[in-house]
Amino acid sequence: LPVIRMCLSQHLLIVVVGDSAVGKTQLLGRFTKDEFHFDSKSTIGVEFQTRTLNLNRKRIKAQIWDTAGQERYRAITNAYYRGAVGAMLVYDVTRRHTFDHIAKWIEELRANADNSIVVVLIGNKSDLVGKREVSLDDAVEFAEEQGLFFSEASALSGENVETAFLMLLEEIYGVVS
Ligand code: GDP
Repeated sequence: LPVIRMCLSQHLLIVVVGDSAVGKTQLLGRFTKDEFHFDSKSTIGVEFQTRTLNLNRKRIKAQIWDTAGQERYRAITNAYYRGAVGAMLVYDVTRRHTFDHIAKWIEELRANADNSIVVVLIGNKSDLVGKREVSLDDAVEFAEEQGLFFSEASALSGENVETAFLMLLEEIYGVVS
């Protein structure tokens, strides 16, 4: 039944995690709607956005959860790690502590998510060249140690956002299909 099969899309659940204000919501908005807002409000609890795209001639519906970084929302977010096939770990290249916290986020992922979850590390706000506090070398070294895919990106300029999400989706697709 080729017609019916063409209409079915595979749902992939992805979570975006990282400290507050690293740009998780804007990365998501850039990827799903090609939008960016300077005055974005903090995400309360968990929200999701979707984008349907074709990958290897298959229709993929990426359902991406935007989780809040605050401790008090942990109880909510933990439930959403279940069933997630991919995770985007985000830090802000202009705030060192958001990079230092990535190890904590990895622990949380390992404790709550499926073992086969594909993880990509993203250093966001690469457009703020003069304000950088995390070098590319440090991030590459850390990503290699941890066995993570890595890219710097800018939700503002859009640089590498599409590539980063596609890298994650292609890898997930390789794992789940
Ligand atoms: P979240 O709390 O991690 O979801 O962070 P937001 O997406 O709400 O972004 C926090 C702040 O950083 C907002 O003021 C955004 O406009 C800003 N921001 C997000 N991404 C970028 C980026 O790539 N470059 C710059 N310059 N600012 C960004």
